[in-house]
Amino acid sequence: MISAETDEILYISPAYEQVWGRTCESLYEDPQSWLFAIHPEDSFKALATLETQFRTGDEFQEEYRIVRPDGSIRWVSVNAFPIRDSSGKVNRFVGIAEDITQRKLAKLAMRKSEEQFRLTFEMAPIGMAITAINGQFKRVNQALCEALGYEEQELLKLSFADITYSEDLELHQTQQEALLKNKGSDFQIETRYISRDLQIVDALLKVVIVRDSKGQPLHFNNQIVDITERKHMEKQLLHDALHDSLTGLPNRALFMDRLDHELKRAKAHPDYVFAVLFLDLDRFKVVNDSAGHLVGDQLLIEISRRLEKTVNFTDTVARLGGDEFTILLENIHNIKNAIAVAEKIDLALGVPFKLKGYELFTSASIGIALSSEGYENPDEIMRDADLTMYSAKEQGRARYEIFNSSLHDRAITRLQLETDMRRGIEREEFLIYYQPINSLKTGKLAGFEALARWKHPVRGIVSPAEFIPVAEETGTIIPLGTWIMERACNQMKLWQELYPQKCSLQISVNLSGKQLRDPSLLEKIDGILQNTGLSGEYLKIEITESSLIENMEVATQTLLDIKNRGIKLSMDDFGTGYSSLSYLHLFPVDILKIDRSFVQDIQINKGNYAIVKAIVTLAHVLEMEVIAEGIEDSFQLEQLKLLNCEYGQGYYFAKPLSKQQAEGLIANSIPIISTI
Ligand code: C2E
Ligand code: CA
Ligand code: CA
Repeated sequence: MISAETDEILYISPAYEQVWGRTCESLYEDPQSWLFAIHPEDSFKALATLETQFRTGDEFQEEYRIVRPDGSIRWVSVNAFPIRDSSGKVNRFVGIAEDITQRKLAKLAMRKSEEQFRLTFEMAPIGMAITAINGQFKRVNQALCEALGYEEQELLKLSFADITYSEDLELHQTQQEALLKNKGSDFQIETRYISRDLQIVDALLKVVIVRDSKGQPLHFNNQIVDITERKHMEKQLLHDALHDSLTGLPNRALFMDRLDHELKRAKAHPDYVFAVLFLDLDRFKVVNDSAGHLVGDQLLIEISRRLEKTVNFTDTVARLGGDEFTILLENIHNIKNAIAVAEKIDLALGVPFKLKGYELFTSASIGIALSSEGYENPDEIMRDADLTMYSAKEQGRARYEIFNSSLHDRAITRLQLETDMRRGIEREEFLIYYQPINSLKTGKLAGFEALARWKHPVRGIVSPAEFIPVAEETGTIIPLGTWIMERACNQMKLWQELYPQKCSLQISVNLSGKQLRDPSLLEKIDGILQNTGLSGEYLKIEITESSLIENMEVATQTLLDIKNRGIKLSMDDFGTGYSSLSYLHLFPVDILKIDRSFVQDIQINKGNYAIVKAIVTLAHVLEMEVIAEGIEDSFQLEQLKLLNCEYGQGYYFAKPLSKQQAEGLIANSIPIISTI
């Protein structure tokens, strides 16, 4: 209590000592000392209030800090009020100081943490929002505004329902309702929003429910991470994993997935039918090898676009790799629909492609398999469609075929054949027959063509027409072909030694396209010549016209390397490939073997005579010799002689002979016209 007139301290309670940290005596001695203990930052304000109060005599309330002698600080709340005498004059003041340090510190700490929250909220790099129970935004931060393209004020007028992609809203709401029903305190979902400029924003949303002290829901704290970029990358990766990078078409993985889906559908609905078309371009390799890979790639892209146009948008056109495509035709009525598509493809590919200055023609062989065969898994239907495509190719390309079970049986037989063949090589079941080749000028034996035979333990003699294609397809032709060449050369060398007067005889050996592509071919040939001791000039290698054309890139150099060893080259089955005459000069061959089909028709078809004549003339211009194969009668022989054909081969002279028969022929060298 302070006197209003003298500022004298009239009474001081002992609690003063606890708050001010000073004795009551010190205050009696120096009545101003309590004032000097006020914190310098608060003292100016405190003194001003005090001064006003003394002047006006009003009650006042003030909060300030006290610095105690030991330097510690206390907060006090001071309440002072005047006491008046009976005349109304203020004669003293009563001041009550309450130590509020604890409360004050708690409040300051609270303010600080609120400030911190505000800063975190505002500056967070992820979107944050506080929403009311009904979803209305109450507070949003800058990152959220930026992610959604809204101004803060615009967003505060909206709720989650206004910006959520409609399909995703239900999930958000059911999760939120669960929180409200006390099921957990938070949830996290992936969801999508629509930005102000109507773009989809992919987001990861984490929601925490905030409750009051009684557990009543107050609001939701939401964290929204923009994952649009990540989603985009995920989508891109997924797309890349399921599409062919060159053409952009679905790849095998995606095709198989859709096929699997279709198969399940067909199983569930017995009337549902779909088809798989397996497509392989005919002679695409020729384009690649002659026009280059860039043009080849361009052609594949163009073909993809044309294929897409032949089907409905619900159907799938896929590229399996290389020049293989597959098409899934959904929900067709019957085989006619699939055939119609195959015919459309044929027409679409029939229009020439004009690429980088080239005009290219292409066609495809197509195998069709229908789901009505009752397949169990996608691999089975693919296998059958593939098989059927092969069959279409064999039948002469540029055509389609429809799967039937005999094709499957044939494939099984082939598989068996392949296994048997590998074993056959080990067990030396193969042997060689020798078909004489005669000079048409002198009528004398000029050599033999080595023709493979297979003495199958169960089936007896198997024709090469049956096993050579399988050997080529599976690669068995490489060891088999090497074996045949080695045996044939060895045999010829033995005959030369046995019959030195016939040492000019030559041996012709067939070489398949696969062997031509074998990088170690020359090494093998060298090894054979060395092992057998046969000089290269007595060996002729026969390569069919079509395998030469299909291997144009590797062929030319390999052929030159073969010729450098003194070996002669024959182009076999000439006239059955395509563009025959125009390609002829490209290959360094010594001999043309006119295909049997021309020779056999020579008498009935005048046109054929003219063709053979043209072939022989052209061959001679290119300094090649000509062998006519398949001569079966004297008429054919006479015609060929007239045409100046150098050599002849055929049943008219002799069928392919066993080793012993051939040797007998050499020994006697007489009956060129045999009855065998
Ligand atoms: P190719 O090279 O055109 O062999 C000629 C085929 O025509 C032989 O059939 C032969 O027996 C047959 N032939 C010969 N003269 C006549 C005739 O006057 N009339 C008729 N109708 N046919 C005649 P073959 O021995 O069945 O061989 C068939 C094919 O198998 C060969 O055709 C050849 O492409 C392939 N081949 C045979 N042996 C081998 C081989 O060792 N390696 C390779 N890569 N292929 C072989
Ligand atoms: Ca041949
Ligand atoms: Ca031939």
